[in-house]
Amino acid sequence: MASATAEKQFTVAIVGGGIGGLTLAAGLLRRNVRVQIYEAAAAFKEVGLGLTIGPAAHRAMPLIDPKIREIYDSLITTHADSPGYERFRQTWFEVVWATGDQAGDVLMDLKALPSGQTTVRRADFLDALVALIPPEIAHFGKRLVHLAETATGVDLEFDDGMTANADVVVGCDGIRSKVKEFMLPEECGDTLPRYSGMYGYRAVLDMDTMIEAVGEHRARVSTMYVGKGAYGISYPIMRAQKVNVGLYTLQDRWDNEEWVRPASKEDMRRDFGYMGEHVNGLVEHMPDPSQWAIFEHPHISTYTQSRVAILGDAAHASTPHQGAGAGQAIEDAHVLAELLGDPRVVHAEQAIAAFKGYDEVRRPRSQRVVTTSKENAFLLCLCLDGVGDDAEKLQKTFQERLRWLWDVDVEDQAERGRRIMLQEISDSETKVESVL
Ligand SMILES: Cc1cc2nc3c(=O)[nH]c(=O)nc-3n(C[C@H](O)[C@H](O)[C@H](O)COP(=O)(O)OP(=O)(O)OC[C@H]3O[C@@H](n4cnc5c(N)ncnc54)[C@H](O)[C@@H]3O)c2cc1C
Repeated sequence: MASATAEKQFTVAIVGGGIGGLTLAAGLLRRNVRVQIYEAAAAFKEVGLGLTIGPAAHRAMPLIDPKIREIYDSLITTHADSPGYERFRQTWFEVVWATGDQAGDVLMDLKALPSGQTTVRRADFLDALVALIPPEIAHFGKRLVHLAETATGVDLEFDDGMTANADVVVGCDGIRSKVKEFMLPEECGDTLPRYSGMYGYRAVLDMDTMIEAVGEHRARVSTMYVGKGAYGISYPIMRAQKVNVGLYTLQDRWDNEEWVRPASKEDMRRDFGYMGEHVNGLVEHMPDPSQWAIFEHPHISTYTQSRVAILGDAAHASTPHQGAGAGQAIEDAHVLAELLGDPRVVHAEQAIAAFKGYDEVRRPRSQRVVTTSKENAFLLCLCLDGVGDDAEKLQKTFQERLRWLWDVDVEDQAERGRRIMLQEISDSETKVESVL
């Protein structure tokens, strides 16, 4: 981390306090950048389901703030939390055939080196991150409704009538980002999230219930069940007291305004009846049959416009099929905190150059994650072109994709962004000199 010297002459307004907004805020505060957070909800909150963070974002955490990694590591569940399963410590998921002659057999043991599978309960992670944020900079019940750039800054307006002003704004307001709408009015319709062609059912089950549903081994070891046109996923959370479960099915259409709609057990049986003993065991034990439509973000042309930038799901919400969305928000937060915290970034004009460096480095990778995450659903549903249900090809393709996702040099991302930013700063200084 470059150390801050000159006092920063700009304030950053962060809109949205999810994992993206809070990790960015922590990283900026650590680098002496002035921050205010505006969150729509009455408190920082996440629904209590599980979250798995891959090795690249795990490596980025201490670079944002070592306390983030300490918090995460203090909350994680690993396979070693189940006595007798320590040998799966480096396993990410076991991939298991749901149907066919080999139903129930392991297709492959997917490793995630060196950390193995690490999972947290979302609400626990968010609660702990909140401790890094001084209460006086967090404003709740502030849903952004309008944003306008002026000659000297950005004006923000919230649904309770309150207004605020900042030198620069970062929209961390999730997949339905308002900041993005104001930032890219000309791409308006194209920036809206779209149905990805899949819906799912989600639940957290007690470990005892899970063992009843699928047996001890499958309950305790994180599992992906692959089948034609559908897949299932489960992983232990909360020190293996509970298990996060998701079942997903490819369905072309979603005819509902809402993204979650009530459904019945019969709907679940219809969607997964053919998916073999384990998935059917889950179906019978999952309490809430609501259907969750899976939306994703179309690629947009930029993550920044002048004094405004977007980060996390606001910029590149992906489907969950690679377990990488929050990890991408964390990688974003690392790069942006490093650039805005650079000692050469003192005024808002230089912060704008930092946004450009961030956009150029983070947009290609995070948009590729949106694409590969969707392809991963096809892989898990045994219908990816050129792979299908060929065991050897599945093994090879899973490995290759995860290598790309996880082996990135996170520090190099920030350094590349820094070079672009410094070039921008130097170009604009040359322009000013030539005008004078
Ligand atoms: C089923 C499912 C499973 C997933 N599993 C994983 C996983 O295992 N691993 C992983 O890495 N990722 C996973 N993801 C993706 C991950 O959840 C997201 O990528 C991540 O939560 C994005 O964080 P964020 O901070 O960008 O946005 P969000 O978490 O959406 O936070 C946005 C915040 O902004 C606030 N807000 C919204 N609008 C406004 C407004 N107008 N004004 C002010 N505040 C506003 C919201 O209240 C919220 O607090 C999964 C996603 C889904 C759908």
